[in-house]
Amino acid sequence: MKELTILHLYPKDMNLYGDHGNVLTLQRRLEWRGVTANVITYNVGNKFPAQPDIIFGGGGQDSGQDIIAKDLQTIAPKLKRLVEANTPTLTICGMYQMFGRFFKTLTGEVINGISIFDIETIGGNERLIGNIITQSDQFGEIIGYENHSGKTYLGKNAVALAKVKMGAGNNDEDGLEGVIYKNAIGTYLHGPLLPKNPRIADFLIAQALQNKYGKAGLTDLDDSLIEQARAIAKKRPR
Ligand code: GLN
Repeated sequence: MKELTILHLYPKDMNLYGDHGNVLTLQRRLEWRGVTANVITYNVGNKFPAQPDIIFGGGGQDSGQDIIAKDLQTIAPKLKRLVEANTPTLTICGMYQMFGRFFKTLTGEVINGISIFDIETIGGNERLIGNIITQSDQFGEIIGYENHSGKTYLGKNAVALAKVKMGAGNNDEDGLEGVIYKNAIGTYLHGPLLPKNPRIADFLIAQALQNKYGKAGLTDLDDSLIEQARAIAKKRPR
């Protein structure tokens, strides 16, 4: 029986707008394919697990980011090694920002990130809130909900996840949303992201199976209800 371990980073302090639903989606889509999914949580001060197959981290208030910042630096070398070794990784909003170089908040405080992504984030006066639709080469249309004041700018080595069709995205200026580096994705999309965007869920799962068993072999699932939910979500106003 195949088995994967999903590592959920800092759920106590970083978990907004349904982010936990991403973990549930990965779990269910694995189970429906006969793969056992073990979910491990990592909070400040915990022991880092030996070999996670998928890494997930959700969004957080500035205060939550502050709480985890120091601890995150202690596990940064391990996270970097895992991302460099192609471990599928999904970071949302606050954790997306923390995987970058730094987040300078509106009050001028600089919260250091771990520089896995070549991005920088500056707190803005305006909150960027609402439903968002983006278009990506790899995953088609991506649908979600954003709520952040941080504005993220990609460095010259960074590749955006998608282009914004409706909403603000990284900074409401350059029309870009998220970042993708190796098998690691950063995005502002909550909602949660994965139930509405199963192609991304299956990308993470397929990469994890490939890494561990040398072959993904994903069977198709009936996603017709998801397609209906996506069609309805797309008609919602910003
Ligand atoms: N605190 C960050 C910001 O406002 C992240 C918010 C979030 O994770 N939703 O930009």
